[in-house]
Amino acid sequence: MTQQTYAEFHARSLAERDAFWAEQARRIDWQTPPQQICDASNPPFARWFVGGTTNLCHNAVDRHAAARPDGRALIWVSTEVGKEVVYSFAQLQAEVEAMAAILQAQGVGQGDRVLIYMPMIPEAAFAMLACARIGAIHSVVFGGFASVSLASRIEDAAPKLVVSADAGSRVGKVLPYKPLLDEAISLSAHKPAGVLMVDRGLAPFARVAGRDLDYAELRSQHWGRRVPCVWLESNTTSYTLYTSGTTGKPKGVQRDVGGYAVALATSMDYIFGGKPGETYFSSSDIGWVVGHSYIVYGPLLQGMATLMYEGTPVNPDAAVLWRLVEKYQVTVMFSAPTAVRVLKKHDAALLKRHDLASLRALFLAGEPLDEPTARWIADGLGVPIIDNYWQTETGWPLLTVANHIPGVAPVPTRFGSPGMPMYGYDVKLLDENSGEELTEPDRKGVLVIGHPLPPGCLQTVWGDDARFVNTYWKSVPGREVYSTFDWGLRDADGYTFILGRTDDVINVAGHRLGTREIEECISGHAAVAEVAVVGVADALKGQVAIAFAVLRDPVQASPALEGEIMKHVDAQLGAVARPARVHFVTLLPKTRSGKLLRRALQAVAEGRDPGDLTTLDDPTALAQVKTLLQK
Ligand code: AMP
Repeated sequence: MTQQTYAEFHARSLAERDAFWAEQARRIDWQTPPQQICDASNPPFARWFVGGTTNLCHNAVDRHAAARPDGRALIWVSTEVGKEVVYSFAQLQAEVEAMAAILQAQGVGQGDRVLIYMPMIPEAAFAMLACARIGAIHSVVFGGFASVSLASRIEDAAPKLVVSADAGSRVGKVLPYKPLLDEAISLSAHKPAGVLMVDRGLAPFARVAGRDLDYAELRSQHWGRRVPCVWLESNTTSYTLYTSGTTGKPKGVQRDVGGYAVALATSMDYIFGGKPGETYFSSSDIGWVVGHSYIVYGPLLQGMATLMYEGTPVNPDAAVLWRLVEKYQVTVMFSAPTAVRVLKKHDAALLKRHDLASLRALFLAGEPLDEPTARWIADGLGVPIIDNYWQTETGWPLLTVANHIPGVAPVPTRFGSPGMPMYGYDVKLLDENSGEELTEPDRKGVLVIGHPLPPGCLQTVWGDDARFVNTYWKSVPGREVYSTFDWGLRDADGYTFILGRTDDVINVAGHRLGTREIEECISGHAAVAEVAVVGVADALKGQVAIAFAVLRDPVQASPALEGEIMKHVDAQLGAVARPARVHFVTLLPKTRSGKLLRRALQAVAEGRDPGDLTTLDDPTALAQVKTLLQK
């Protein structure tokens, strides 16, 4: 059989868009088949599989439970509390139905929001799938976020119910969630009617009478109840997931049901090459998009077992991930470059301690993958390392190599590049100023996607269509294209390289943070008059946040105040957002019109040339930063 090239396959996915996606739509069960594959008539909005009715939970759980009730579905491993539990598809369905019954008994129905603020425990997945089952919209908030971050998300999502737990744990240290949640609810103008608490027995907590509900008690009340899946039109909202942008207010990335199911099922096959009955292990967290797509929905849609892990890559030792690969015969693994850089500090022999014969590939995403890290892990594991680039907004990889497409020649990986545009994505590089497409190789431009976005990508920003249109589709002059806000470059062979963000978003250990959010938080400290936060290159985390603060009273500058400001960020936003340093300065670099020159500040902080400074109002501001950093 002659093989197609990937470029031909990609071109067909765009030229014969509807035929291509109609074929992919057969991967999932529809109660009513779609009447129209793509309605792109109202740009930049797109509606996929219009008129089709389906259900994510049916496709992820019930259909496999019917075919293979005893097949493994969810494997939960916690090295924090020393537990390992395996749920079959039938057991998972029973748990999800019990959770769905609890939600319904609290009056949660189709279109109602449920906010999930949970550590990595099975109940978090049960809650997500239970929402999907009854058509409620889940909004998972990363457990590492603290009260102010959580409050803004509660206010925006306006959930009827919050599902939470007493505490998480990190390297044996108990991290109580309930006080942060109580404070967030008191800060939020919206008050959820109920808070469903999973009590792990890790941290005693106060219950609010009439609001707080006990999960264990309700689970036993509702155990065994059948809760049918609600068939939802494909474009019904399945969930929202908040992500950082350039303003202090996080955006609720909103996704559909049918398009997401089809996109994930296709990616499980073509990109990840995962097969039903095998085990998929993503070491991410359910609070991030990778957790949604490739801990919960993707593997289960494919009929794979998904391994959910509460713990770190180095506890009890730096071989723990590989022990799990061996024990559960993991075939496909997904992690982040930072996790590999952490492992790299340990003995490479640990990579060989366990039998990794089952493992076919390791996928890494979330931040740039540097070549030394990629080579170290590739040599150590002896399996392909597949860099993949995407965003919360896209829901599945945008650039990578899809090497499991029948009849299509595999694409070799190239160090430093995540790969090629995935099928369905009309990716272009545009000149930032003129909006012209850059067709010659090796030119740096803004990476954009043409309308319509493929299935699985965001429908809009929750409650704010105008923000969706204006933020994402109007940033390149004269062009209505979706901006990724990343710089890209394509080489002569079509490999795309990512060269960093075009906006003020930073990436710390694969976690996306808005510098404005951190600035707003630090400005809230009584001692601070003004602050600038920039992302600075870091060997381990890719980037770290560094703050430059002007104090109301400069004599207050002290290491103690620096510590206090860090604690203030911890308490309000969470430890993920804590700057690595808070430097005290008397002046910030600004233009004459008062615009903060973040890029110049970042360049100086990284020891680079700050470039054109003709607009800089007072050169002593940067000189001060230079001297400070030389100390
Ligand atoms: P998030 O929405 O949190 O997944 O963050 C998305 C951003 O992370 C992208 O816009 C990129 O800036 C960065 N990113 C994600 N994956 C990669 C990758 N494989 N290589 C380089 N940057 C990446």
